[in-house]
Amino acid sequence: MNISTGNKIGFLCFIVILSMWGYVVAHIIGIFDLRSIKDEKHHVYSLNIANELRQSSDDLTRMARTYVVTGNEIYKEYYFDIIAIRNGDSPRPKKYPPTYWYTSLTPERFALDKLDIQVPLKNLMRDMGFTESELLLLQQSQARSDNLMNIEKQAFALMKGSYNDGKGTFTPKGVPDNAFAIKLLFSPQYQQEKIAIMQPIQKFIAAVENRLIIEADEFQTKQKKYLWYVILLLVISTLMALIITFYVRNKIVLPIFSLVHDAQSIAEGDYQARSKVSVENEIGSLSKNLNKMANHIERDINKLKQMATTDELVGIANRRAFMKSLQLELERSHRYQVPLCLLMLDVDYFKVFNDTYGHSIGDDVLKLICKVSQLVLRENDLMGRIGGEEFAFILPATNIDFALIVAERIRAAVDDAFLIIDGKKIKVTVSMGATQLTNEDDVGLFLKRADMAMYKSKDNGRNQTHYF
Ligand code: GH3
Ligand code: MG
Ligand code: MG
Repeated sequence: MNISTGNKIGFLCFIVILSMWGYVVAHIIGIFDLRSIKDEKHHVYSLNIANELRQSSDDLTRMARTYVVTGNEIYKEYYFDIIAIRNGDSPRPKKYPPTYWYTSLTPERFALDKLDIQVPLKNLMRDMGFTESELLLLQQSQARSDNLMNIEKQAFALMKGSYNDGKGTFTPKGVPDNAFAIKLLFSPQYQQEKIAIMQPIQKFIAAVENRLIIEADEFQTKQKKYLWYVILLLVISTLMALIITFYVRNKIVLPIFSLVHDAQSIAEGDYQARSKVSVENEIGSLSKNLNKMANHIERDINKLKQMATTDELVGIANRRAFMKSLQLELERSHRYQVPLCLLMLDVDYFKVFNDTYGHSIGDDVLKLICKVSQLVLRENDLMGRIGGEEFAFILPATNIDFALIVAERIRAAVDDAFLIIDGKKIKVTVSMGATQLTNEDDVGLFLKRADMAMYKSKDNGRNQTHYF
C-alpha cells in the first residue's frame, strides 16, 4: 500500500475512531452529568421525602395522643409545628430526620438549624418528579387526613372544655374532659381513619421504592453498556495503534534506514551496492529508482574504465593500462624473485604499407596482428598497444629462453597471416625484441632494453627476433 493511501486511510480511521470516542464520551458525560449524579442523590432524597410524609403522619398521632394523655401543652405545640412544617407555614429544619421529633423533645430542640425556606411537603414532592400514579396515592391520603385531623382537633378542644359546634368552630362550653379526649384518639374510629391515611402512604412509598430500583437498574445497565463501548473502543484503538506502528515501522521506518544506508554506499563510490528494499510503496519505488540510477552509473563507469584502459582500434590494453600492469608485474617479480620477460613488436615498413594500401587497411592489419598474436599467448600473458604500430607483451613467470620461443611464434604467426584485398594476399612482417627483468631494472630500463632488442632486429633486416 502506498504511503499516501495509507496516510488517507489512517486519517479516515482516526476520524472514525475519534467520532466513536466523541459519541461514547458524550453519552458517558450524559450518564454522569448533573442529571445522572442527581439521580443517585435524588433517589435517596425522594425516599427521605416519601418517608417524611409517613413519619410526620405518625408523629402527628403520637404528639396528639401524648398531649391528651399528659396534658402537656408542648406536645400540642409540636403537633402544630409538624403541621406547619409539613404545610410550608414554618421553615424546615436543615436536616429533617425521621427521628426529628424524638430529638426535638430534648431541651436543645431549638438548636436544630432551620432552613430559611418554607416549602410545603406537597411542593417538595412535586419537585421530586413523582409519577402521576404515585401522586394520586398521596392525594388519596391527603383527602383522608382531614377526617383524622378533625378527630384530633376535637380531642384538643376537649382538653380545653371546648366542643365542636357542629360547624367546625370550637367554643368553650364546659370543663375539660381529658378522659374523653384520650378515648377519642384511641378509639377504633381514629384507628380506622389512621389506617385509611397510612395505607396509600405505604403504597406510595412502595411504589417510589419500586420505581427507584428500576431506575437504578436502568442506570446501571446504561453504565455497563457504555463501559463495554469504552472497552471495545480501547481494544479497537489499541489494535489500530499497533497496526499503524507495525506498518510505519516495517513499511516506512526500516526501509528508509536501509535506503539511507544503501544510498550512502553508492554515494561513497560503491557502484555495485544495490538497495534491497522491496516494499510496495513510494519508498519501494525510490529504492527501484536508486538501483536503476546505480545500474546506469556502474555501466557508465565501467564504460569509462574500459575506454580509459582499452585501445579503441584493436580492443586490447592501451599504453596506460599496459604500463600499470607492467609496473605491478615488475614489483611482484622483484618481490617473489620469479622471472619476468618483456617482448616488443614493431610493424616493419608500416608507413610504406599505409601509403600503398591506405590507412584503413593498415588498421585492419593492426587488428590482424592482435588477433594472431593473442592466439599464441597464454592466459596470464598480457599484450598492449604502446604506440601507433608498436605492441608489447608481458610474460609473467617466464625466462628469456621461453620468451624467445613465444616471440618467435608471434613473429611467425604474423608472417603467416595475410589479408585478401582485391583478390590479392597482402601481409606485413614484424620485428621482435625480448628481454628478461634484472634486479636493477625499473620500468624505464626494462622497456628500453626490450626496445633496443627490437631495434636490433630492425637493424639486422627486420622480420626477426633479438634479445638483450
Ligand atoms: P620501420 O620498419 O622502421 O618501423 O618503418 P615504419 O614505416 O614502420 O616506421 P615509421 O615510424 O616511420 O612509421 C610508422 C607508421 O605507422 C606511420 C603511421 O602512419 C603508421 N601508423 C601509426 N599508427 C597507425 C594506425 O593507427 N593506423 C595505421 N593505419 N597506421 C598507423
Ligand atoms: Mg614504430
Ligand atoms: Mg614500424
